[in-house]
Amino acid sequence: MAINLTRRKFLKTASIAAASVPLSKVTAHAEAGVVKTPLIPKGSFKDTKTVTGGICEMCFWRCQLVGKVRDGVLKKIEGNPKSIDNGSALCARGNAGIKLLYDPDRLKYPMKNMGKRGEPKWKRISWEEALDECGKKLKATVDKHGPEGIAMFPHGASAKYPMHYFEHVVGTPNVSEASFFQCRGVRDYAWLSTIGAAPGEHVDMANAKVIFGLGCHFGENIHVSHTKRYLKGLENGAKLVIVDPRFSASASKADIWMQIKPGTDTAMLLAMMNYLVENKKFNAEYVDEYGEGFDEFKEAISPWTLEKAAKECDVPAAQIKEIADLLAANAPNVSIHPGRFSSWYGNDFQRGRALACLAGLLGAFGVPGGFVKGIGPGGFGKVKWGHGHEAIKALHREAKVHHQSPAGTPTDLIRDCAITSKPYPIKSCVVWGQNPIQTIPNQQKTIDMLMQMDFVMCVDVMPTDITMYADILLPEASYLERYDYIKKGTQWDLSAKQQQYVSARMPLVEAEFERKDQVYICNELAKRMGNEEAIPVQTIEEMVDKILEPASLSIKKLNEEDGIHLQPGKDPYGDFLDINFFSEDLVEQGYPGAPTYEPIPDVPKGYLRLLFGRSPLHSFNRTQNNAWLHNAMPENPVWIHDKTAKLLGLKDGDRISMVNSEGVESGTTSHVKVTPGIREDCVFIAHGHGTQNAAMTVAKDAGIDDQKLVTILAVDPETGCHGMRNNFIKIVKA
Ligand code: SF4
Repeated sequence: MAINLTRRKFLKTASIAAASVPLSKVTAHAEAGVVKTPLIPKGSFKDTKTVTGGICEMCFWRCQLVGKVRDGVLKKIEGNPKSIDNGSALCARGNAGIKLLYDPDRLKYPMKNMGKRGEPKWKRISWEEALDECGKKLKATVDKHGPEGIAMFPHGASAKYPMHYFEHVVGTPNVSEASFFQCRGVRDYAWLSTIGAAPGEHVDMANAKVIFGLGCHFGENIHVSHTKRYLKGLENGAKLVIVDPRFSASASKADIWMQIKPGTDTAMLLAMMNYLVENKKFNAEYVDEYGEGFDEFKEAISPWTLEKAAKECDVPAAQIKEIADLLAANAPNVSIHPGRFSSWYGNDFQRGRALACLAGLLGAFGVPGGFVKGIGPGGFGKVKWGHGHEAIKALHREAKVHHQSPAGTPTDLIRDCAITSKPYPIKSCVVWGQNPIQTIPNQQKTIDMLMQMDFVMCVDVMPTDITMYADILLPEASYLERYDYIKKGTQWDLSAKQQQYVSARMPLVEAEFERKDQVYICNELAKRMGNEEAIPVQTIEEMVDKILEPASLSIKKLNEEDGIHLQPGKDPYGDFLDINFFSEDLVEQGYPGAPTYEPIPDVPKGYLRLLFGRSPLHSFNRTQNNAWLHNAMPENPVWIHDKTAKLLGLKDGDRISMVNSEGVESGTTSHVKVTPGIREDCVFIAHGHGTQNAAMTVAKDAGIDDQKLVTILAVDPETGCHGMRNNFIKIVKA
């Protein structure tokens, strides 16, 4: 694999990619590709009006948008030029939102499944009929089994309001968000227990002297303003250190790339910290002032020599030392990135703790380049459902496990409870914007859970693999057609000005067909379930205004201000944070007080470890059916090392399928990408491909579904989050 882009050239290219929109590229692909995409004729924007106030949800970063609309039809999406967050830039997915809006496969009407679950035969019904049936079935479940008879799987902004309803009014403890248990929950709770705050991605990369990313593939996992900060840091001369078994986009630009053995990161971090402590290269002043339990921590990490970690991590000891020295020489102005998708191996809480402690040792809090607390505007209102029930304790709280669990209940506990009816039956399931078939490991168990339900209701914008299991399927207005929660934040690092911003998602066009918003759907359900008196707002506009009102803002005012309210910001620096190097609370709960390395199973002979991650052109499974994005990336190439490929008789472009160590087959195929940029004992694919729903006419069978092959679940003991990279596969030539 030839990689010869200079960093300068890369920065130019990447800035353009992030900032100026690969729209022309995706439309060109679409022109040449299998799906006809109408191109916009020159000069056609003359008669369009610009509608402000949009907020993207092609991923969950929520960039601010404007729409070019003519005769009620959205012709083009652009970044809101008033935005001090993403500016006028959108990523490829953001631009391609227009193809989601007008996707002919979108859900249009309420539908009832007249066939079997998993093999649906859809019949269009009225909203009245659909809501009556949902209300009746859900109420019957509550009457028979109590509120714990319902499980809810929400995802995305539109699921917040219904999630509060099911948790606080219906009173079910069985609520599980993929964004926590399969993604960033473990990160947030590891840092919370260490510095008292969830880190988000509040690292001041634009002003850093060193950016340290562990498994972060910046540039592939694109979030526009975050990518801008990363690029600005590199432009300003920051050194880049990337630790990753794979030669990711960011590894290709790194000053130091450590190709670590998967799952051993905590050992490397412990050795690095031990080296800094032993050689007095840490920020003793910061540790004295803000550190708790440093002596116990020092003692606990003392066995971790560079040599011991090097052996465990399969990397040179000199490289661990080199990184530690680089960080120490540039401390405190270093960005120790907390990562985002961080549920990897089931030992992830300890890795998160170790990362936070490393930042603490370097004093990298509240300083330019370091971790800075969110300092966005405050003073907003809340929309609260009235409480109908005493909250029932979630399963893990009853069992006194996973004490550091994110909000909700770990998904596998809900699933096991539903399948076994122990400790109680779960007989109805509400899925709102989530696709648990392709987010939760062990698909067959998820299907078993769904099959034993008395009732399954799904609300979504598009069909997905889980909607095949719905009894009633409700079409939701997309992010381009509805109001929604506010987005607020701050800006100081990408411009000279310190400013704060507030916006609220506003529709760019009206919803077509019979699509409805979440407040309508949920309120109508509440009425039919006997909870009418708990309804907090009558319309989604009322909800947004209620949130804005205490800050003297409103939808009307935001509209007058082109969708974004700006106000003076605050100095982000000087907010130093206490660090729990050793936590007595964790000890009391039965966990190690200091960050501790837990080894994971090795790759069995004859198998390869299945790694998966994000790509810049898709947001998991959500965007697979998008014609432009599909044409730009129709399937997920299987990264495989040159030597491994040779051993297996594979060459670049060969079609393959996979079978995992438990005999589960991928079912679909993809092509091989032969590269030295992956460890010899691993393969890597992008997440979210290989959908099975025939209603997704663009995406069906395109690529390999990683989740189908993830049948071994490593549960993080502290949080209950799901480590999903302990699965091993064999390649099968197709
Ligand atoms: S990063 Fe891209 S997909 Fe995500 S919100 Fe921004 S424009 Fe949309």
